[in-house]
Amino acid sequence: MSAPLRVPPGGTIGIIGGGQLGRMTALAAGALGYRCHIFTPEPDSPASQVAWRTTLADYENREALDAFARSIDIATFEFENIPLATVERLAELVPVRPGARALAAAQDRLAEKTFFNDLGIATAPWRPVRNLADLAAAVEALGTPSILKTARLGYDGKGQTKIEAGTDLAAAWRRLATDTGVLEGYVDFTHEISAIVARGQDGALAAFDVAHNVHVDHILATSTVPAPIEAAQGAQAVAIAGKAAQALDLVGLLAVEMFVDKQGRLVVNEMAPRPHNSGHWTIDTCRTSQFEQLVRAICGLPLGSPARHADARMTNLIGQAVALGVPALAEPDAKLHLYGKTEIRAGRKMGHITRLSPLSGS
Ligand code: AMP
Repeated sequence: MSAPLRVPPGGTIGIIGGGQLGRMTALAAGALGYRCHIFTPEPDSPASQVAWRTTLADYENREALDAFARSIDIATFEFENIPLATVERLAELVPVRPGARALAAAQDRLAEKTFFNDLGIATAPWRPVRNLADLAAAVEALGTPSILKTARLGYDGKGQTKIEAGTDLAAAWRRLATDTGVLEGYVDFTHEISAIVARGQDGALAAFDVAHNVHVDHILATSTVPAPIEAAQGAQAVAIAGKAAQALDLVGLLAVEMFVDKQGRLVVNEMAPRPHNSGHWTIDTCRTSQFEQLVRAICGLPLGSPARHADARMTNLIGQAVALGVPALAEPDAKLHLYGKTEIRAGRKMGHITRLSPLSGS
């Protein structure tokens, strides 16, 4: 277990990354009396707009990183695609929660799948792919359709390609433009779900209700609670996330995305040791949001209740759909969150709307 550490309100939280997850974390931290210092290479980032300070520098900038570390009491990160060396250097100077171990396991699909399989948790069948011969052998073993993904730096469907019978494997491997990939068997699923758990320094776990996620063009479109799955499946999903958080000795949040296959089995797709898009509904729907829960966990405060007081559907506002945001303010049961991004790009997450409805019996 990590050494006990308490950063009381009034302290400064360093956040690596300047995106919307950092922004919503900084807003929740502010409500509890913390200051946030953002470290990002992006000028005018969504998080910087609501934070106390920003260090504008590349993740490899050692001098800037060291100065950042001296100005904060604790650090966290809001996305996975930061160099592990950045987090490791930071951890020499200041506590980082969750730590480098969770980040390393989540950054690399091979490490991630090995981690889950070692815990006895099912993933899609998979094979490492390091060259064209590996790919041909993997397709032979797993069949088609299957999905070829980069081991690192993929998100929102970027860095992946579907392999069908007759796909030109050489072209698919070239397109992936990497030296390490993974081939996954295609999971024929009825639902995609996610479980988000918080784990405190004392090992206490608090889980949010499982959300049902619908992706369009590989990007999350909606998350709905309660998920239309069996209660036992929901409990199993939460148990999987809790087991993984414990095995990583993680302090903070862990989100685990899973498929429910046609036989009703849960199959893990991936995990993220940070707030997750599929948990944005918690802001308006739970006693404690995922962002507040992260702050409580890393600062050594008691975890809050994750209980829901409403049913909810979160809809991402992607690209031009941001225009749907302001009109939603006229709906009495809709809550709008915009991320302060000035440039609208296709596929870019600009904000989200959470629509509430009375709590159902589930
Ligand atoms: P990922 O980048 O791994 O989160 O994948 C993005 C989306 O692609 C997922 O949310 C699924 O909708 C789909 N997908 C990824 N992997 C698989 C798989 N092995 N079988 C079926 N669908 C998948």
